[in-house]
Amino acid sequence: MGTGFFGKVLWVNLTEENFKEELLTGDIYRQYLGGYGLGVKLIYENMPANIDPLSANSVFGFFPGLLTGTAAPFSGRYMVAGKSPLTRTWGDSNSGGTFGPEIKRCGYDAIMIKGVANTPKYISIIEDQKKILDASEIWGLDIIETESKMKEKHGKFIKVAGIGQAGEKLSYLSGIANDKGRIAARAGLGAILGSKKLKALVLKGNKKISIHNRENFLELVKIYNESGTNGEPNKLIRSILQNVPRLAKTIRRFRIKFAGPPKMIREIYKSFGTSVANTLSAETNDSPIKNWTGIGMYDFPFKKSKNLSAIEIQKYKIREYGCFSCPVQCGGILKVPEIKLDETLLPEYETCCSFGALLLNHDLFSIFEINDLCNRAAIDTISTGATIAFAMECFENGILTEEDTDGLKLTWGNSKAIVEMVKKIINREGIGDVLADGSRIASEKIGKQSAEYSITSLGSEIAMHNPRVFPSLAFTYNYDPTPGRHTAASIDFVDIGPINKFQKGFKLPKGWRKSEKKKQIGQMLDTSIHQVINSAGLCMFSTLFGPYPFIDLINNFAGWNVSVDELIKIGVRIQTLRQAFNLREGIDIVGNKLPGRVTGHPPDKRGPTKGISVEYKDFYKGYCGEMGWNPENGYPLKETLKDLDLEFVIKDLY
Ligand code: SF4
Repeated sequence: MGTGFFGKVLWVNLTEENFKEELLTGDIYRQYLGGYGLGVKLIYENMPANIDPLSANSVFGFFPGLLTGTAAPFSGRYMVAGKSPLTRTWGDSNSGGTFGPEIKRCGYDAIMIKGVANTPKYISIIEDQKKILDASEIWGLDIIETESKMKEKHGKFIKVAGIGQAGEKLSYLSGIANDKGRIAARAGLGAILGSKKLKALVLKGNKKISIHNRENFLELVKIYNESGTNGEPNKLIRSILQNVPRLAKTIRRFRIKFAGPPKMIREIYKSFGTSVANTLSAETNDSPIKNWTGIGMYDFPFKKSKNLSAIEIQKYKIREYGCFSCPVQCGGILKVPEIKLDETLLPEYETCCSFGALLLNHDLFSIFEINDLCNRAAIDTISTGATIAFAMECFENGILTEEDTDGLKLTWGNSKAIVEMVKKIINREGIGDVLADGSRIASEKIGKQSAEYSITSLGSEIAMHNPRVFPSLAFTYNYDPTPGRHTAASIDFVDIGPINKFQKGFKLPKGWRKSEKKKQIGQMLDTSIHQVINSAGLCMFSTLFGPYPFIDLINNFAGWNVSVDELIKIGVRIQTLRQAFNLREGIDIVGNKLPGRVTGHPPDKRGPTKGISVEYKDFYKGYCGEMGWNPENGYPLKETLKDLDLEFVIKDLY
């Protein structure tokens, strides 16, 4: 009987061109699980504060989740983590596909990178042979070309993750991509690999994961997967669900919540993926419109948003696509002959919104083209779209002119100019060089009150969901250790899925929607469960699809007897250490403030979010109390640190 994990981390020193293995004890996994939980422990201890993220001393890692590589449903994800070049805070980002499991098959629970190569390199770990190799023939290629070249050289069964042109050019918007363009996109972590002159990891493993009780584990997986297909919606319900994107106006008019039984949600995700939200969110004002100044039903009405509807997108789908061990497969592969794309990934809602509603662009072909460009270059679509929105508002107000934009008319909805601008940002050409590190840095270069149009939190462009629709998003956009994310735990956002049903014994306090105090407790619990889901390598959508045998799976995997209470404590520990990372960096967490237009200051005078302003500062204080942190400054209390076995943090914060 095994322990599930390998107990081994591989360290790669690019300066010294060597590899070292570090052995970890079982208690580390029980305290941090894996993924970015293990990541924050290793990076906190191995990288001192105030290191330039693009320097040789910057430590970076690839982390599969605890369950990644097993048959556990939705567990195929890996995380990358380090200090964000974009926000100078803790940075992590995750991606699905098939790369994460390969790290495990190589026999490692993490691959850590430090130092800097003198010329472009890639790391290959192929059936126990570890090498640092010359990357001159792939440097300059996009990620799909890189993957193809590496397969020609090392065989078709290898898995590749690496940077495209954006990371090579040290863009703070760049990410790390695998499986032909799936990106761990946020926080600008691709620039760290670029600064280390590390193009890619090329992996092919031969190790088996030794699950503690394999029989029970596989039985749990079987029961879960079969339960998902039992009682699928009948033909009538299915045909209604297939038309949900067309019902956007009705949903807005009757204020219908984005919620429903897990089986329906599963059917919708399977059919459309996140693009189902394209019309619904635009119509209900969940989508930010015109750089957060517009109102969907008036400025980007259904007659425009329907061009980007999931139903339109489906017309180009040639096959389903999804991550390793996922029973839902929410992605898709498209063929778009009109713009000569033979095979491209289905664009997610965030991409459709950041290059659609946010820029008043309803040209679907431009969205397909941009999605393909960004995936290949491995650049974050949220931040890139939002940075172009910033530039458009500068253009509208005469702060940028055609002279500055190399002749591009950056007017709202000008899809041709948007596509050209994306290319310029990827290649750092002309104005693209000014914009390639995001809107906050661009505004510092441009000056002239342009900062007003940079809609960021600590420098990270804010994601494509409106806190006036899901109020606690303001709290996470502002305060999560990875600011500006919709994927951080936000208790109102889980309203779209039944989190209470996810793990037996895990419940938000009854009546949390009506009581501020209960909501703060609920936010602490939601934050905690979110950390453990991520650190186990589960997709965040796993909570949407009904009861999941989470604790039983990890206990059978590792031979533990973890309870719900212990699980919550693990989540609090991980979030507390991410918080401590930022405090040690000197980040002014409590002083951070979102732009007024994100929170409704002043409120809209009409439309679905009329009169709504969101306050979040007092809520944070209550949440800090629940986390065992000082409500005045967000510092974890000494007693909390001791209780969480984080004593090593005390000397840094006190
Ligand atoms: S639901 Fe979608 S994103 Fe999540 S694991 Fe499945 S295919 Fe991947």
